[in-house]
Amino acid sequence: METVTQGAQANAVPQGEQATAVSEARAAILNAVVPVAPTEIVQIKAALGRVLADDVHARVNVPPHDNSAMDGFALRGSELKAGKVSLRITGVALAGKAYAGVVGAGECVRIMTGAVMPADCDTVIPHELVGNIAEDRIEFDAIVLRAGANRRCAGEDLKAGAVAVPAGKRLMPADLGLLASIGIPEVVVSRVLRVAYFSTGDELCAPGETLRPGCIYDSNRFTLHGMISRAGHEPLDMGVIPDHPDQIEHALRTACTSADAVVIAGGMSEGDADHTRHMLARLGKVAFHKVAMRPGRPMAFGALEIDGNRAFLFGLPGNPVAAMVSFYFFVAPALEKMAGGQVRPPPVAWVPSAQYIKKRPGRTEFQRGVVESDELGWQIVRITGNQGSGVLRSMSEANCIIVLDHDQAEVKVGEWIKVLYFQGLV
Ligand code: AMP
Ligand code: MG
Repeated sequence: METVTQGAQANAVPQGEQATAVSEARAAILNAVVPVAPTEIVQIKAALGRVLADDVHARVNVPPHDNSAMDGFALRGSELKAGKVSLRITGVALAGKAYAGVVGAGECVRIMTGAVMPADCDTVIPHELVGNIAEDRIEFDAIVLRAGANRRCAGEDLKAGAVAVPAGKRLMPADLGLLASIGIPEVVVSRVLRVAYFSTGDELCAPGETLRPGCIYDSNRFTLHGMISRAGHEPLDMGVIPDHPDQIEHALRTACTSADAVVIAGGMSEGDADHTRHMLARLGKVAFHKVAMRPGRPMAFGALEIDGNRAFLFGLPGNPVAAMVSFYFFVAPALEKMAGGQVRPPPVAWVPSAQYIKKRPGRTEFQRGVVESDELGWQIVRITGNQGSGVLRSMSEANCIIVLDHDQAEVKVGEWIKVLYFQGLV
């Protein structure tokens, strides 16, 4: 990837130079950013969606003791010889109230799910497998059970000392429960990353304003707000900035004093970018990139350093779908790394295409898709209507993004293609 760094060099990007592949651009950006957020301690409920700063080790075994997985009767596995087994019930073990006695040969203890296994017992027969239950005796066929059945062993979920949740994990509901299960009330997390963003364009009006002649409403600030917030960062709205380098510079100066990262949407294409290039090159090590993708293509990225304040800058194309796609594929992983998080490729699914899709090798295409069931109940994916890079509706109607890789050619009906769902269980 071409990385222009300083001053006039940034202006020397040759027109029409070879575009960088998406994977290469993504790797270069990801490689350039560094974790910036210091840490803080929060209660585990408040840690939902936060990035864990240090590995958390289990202080206790989970479960802490051998216990029953079923309601039934605890017994010694050695009782399970061929034929009928008849055992005397000598007591009861409840969850939270262990049976203190000894269980001898020919004996058993009534036991509830989660109750500590009585000493000497290693097996539980669930109620439904017992042939005969009398007041003080049970009978069943030995063949229905094997020794050791229905016992959960101490430490079988997690051993004391093992890593329960690794550093860099963005905590999900299961993690909160897991932390609680090892008795941990609070954790060290990275401070929420502050991400300033603004739209640029003389043609932009804010919703609520009367639309001036020849103007359009600004949508990018709102999709950016949504994407930044959903990614777990703090969004700082810097408003709409006119296409004027001094005003953009002023906005960047302000953003740099309070934010870890700044996202600008608009004004990155060749015509617009000339002033912006000069100005950004003055403010830091910012390079312009042409990425071989659709929608998307023009992008700026680099480190700003203004009056001793540092922030990473991401300049996105102004077309609303292009801005979103560029955010998801370049900015989101970089912000995650800056926030101290583990960056993993998003989970993909492969689904047969319901239609022919035109595509030429040599660039990555991100189409907006709807995965739905066909008449037999199988999942298929179709593209939403107009795929123009300005058509936000295509994004709103979609439930996934179809990724057609750099080298891929046209897609035939029924061919399996890669989709990234917008929503999952989190
Ligand atoms: P630009 O990247 O600034 O050249 O803008 C490309 C296209 O996207 C133009 O049609 C702009 O009017 C449109 N656009 C730029 N910014 C926004 C925005 N914030 N909201 C809606 N459309 C925008
Ligand atoms: Mg513009």
